[in-house]
Amino acid sequence: MGALLFHSTNGQSPAVNLREALLQGQAPDRGLYFPKQFPRFTFNELSAFSRLPYHEIAFRVLSKFTEGIVPPAELAKMCADAYNFPVPLEVVNFRTFLMRLDQGPTASFKDFAAQMMARLFGKFLREDGKQVTILTATSGDTGSAVAHAFHKIPGVRVIVLFPTTEVSESQRKLMTTLKDNIRSVAIDGKFDDCQAMVKQAFADPALQHIPLSSANSINIGRLLPQSVYYFYAASRVAQAGEPIVFSVPSGNFGDMMGAIVAREMGLPVRKIVAAVNDNDAFPKFLTTGNYEKISPSRNSLSNAMNVGHPSNLARLVSVYGGQMDETGKINQLPDLNALRRDIFSSSISDERTVAGVRDFWNQFQLLLEPHGAVAWQGLQDWTAQEPLGNTPAVIVETANPAKFPVEVQKVVGWEPDVPANMIASLKLPEDYDHMGADYGKFREYLIAKHL
Ligand SMILES: *Cc1c(COP(=O)(O)O)cnc(C)c1O
Repeated sequence: MGALLFHSTNGQSPAVNLREALLQGQAPDRGLYFPKQFPRFTFNELSAFSRLPYHEIAFRVLSKFTEGIVPPAELAKMCADAYNFPVPLEVVNFRTFLMRLDQGPTASFKDFAAQMMARLFGKFLREDGKQVTILTATSGDTGSAVAHAFHKIPGVRVIVLFPTTEVSESQRKLMTTLKDNIRSVAIDGKFDDCQAMVKQAFADPALQHIPLSSANSINIGRLLPQSVYYFYAASRVAQAGEPIVFSVPSGNFGDMMGAIVAREMGLPVRKIVAAVNDNDAFPKFLTTGNYEKISPSRNSLSNAMNVGHPSNLARLVSVYGGQMDETGKINQLPDLNALRRDIFSSSISDERTVAGVRDFWNQFQLLLEPHGAVAWQGLQDWTAQEPLGNTPAVIVETANPAKFPVEVQKVVGWEPDVPANMIASLKLPEDYDHMGADYGKFREYLIAKHL
């Protein structure tokens, strides 16, 4: 059997296998790679997950995409190495759970994808004897997760662009204290400016001689590992075959697309709640059928979700039979009724985010940070319309509360403990470059750095 193929959401570039899709990042026609049809698990295969550790579930999910590309024994080892930390599921009340995806090296859910992607990249580059420069725009957590995952991987240089004033101190330090093959650049602008600069570099003929790749959630290598924790959560809190609800704090919608991938592979899902902050382009689209990106994106407490135009919507729209190009223009409307049946989305203000942290602590003695609080409030909004009943629900907590000490302290009155793995980075000296949101300057920088 041939390897599974990934098609561009813009439909102009040829379909490629996982290896090509991963190394290219974005398709040449500026679309995003995504399978037209997903491999599916049988009921029995899914039932078996309840007895397997996380890394073994990761192996079974990912091996559906790596056939003929990564030998099974090698993939199994990568999974065991990458996923050597716990994935706590804490009881909130009755059948509602909090899944903490914050136990990886940079205390963010982005470690799940970055750790696997770095291993796959390393393998493919080694085999090809090639080098790449990975350009990443970050609103805080991607940059640190990617930098840590790719640190010292031969053949890879990483350049991270972050908005100078929109990342927290600990987020910044997790990026700027690494050396060797990692370089960070503070951009005097917003996350959207960073992302636009990265996209421009990919399309720039003057940079054709530099092999560039991306580790943003436009890369399919980011998405596939993010489906695994949905399988894992369901295997622990739902009966086999029992539909489940996920509430996901969403910015670029890569995390939420992981839940869609899991569902397309056969996981029974009753509803996905995509909770956003003030950047409400998606919930408005779901209600009105008109998509208008937010430009410039709005600042909010959940800063990793300050995204005015979520790039993964192009993939979501394609799953529902529509077509959205990279600028957000919809050439073919998706099936809106089906979208509304499967997905609920609401926009959570900063005020409600703070209230979410406070109420969650007061009611359940469980600590959230702003992103998790957005997911909690999103779930509240949905269950106000459709009661959960007996359905199991999982709120996805995407970062460790210690990454937001100021915000958390204001609400509960004390600062959360910093996880041991973060303490080391926070003490090291920082080193990074700085520039305006000026693409011409960035191009010069890239050319100079490449030599
Ligand atoms: C990146 C990030 C998100 C948003 O994830 P997307 O895949 O971009 O939707 C949410 N929370 C935290 C803490 C993040 O770092």
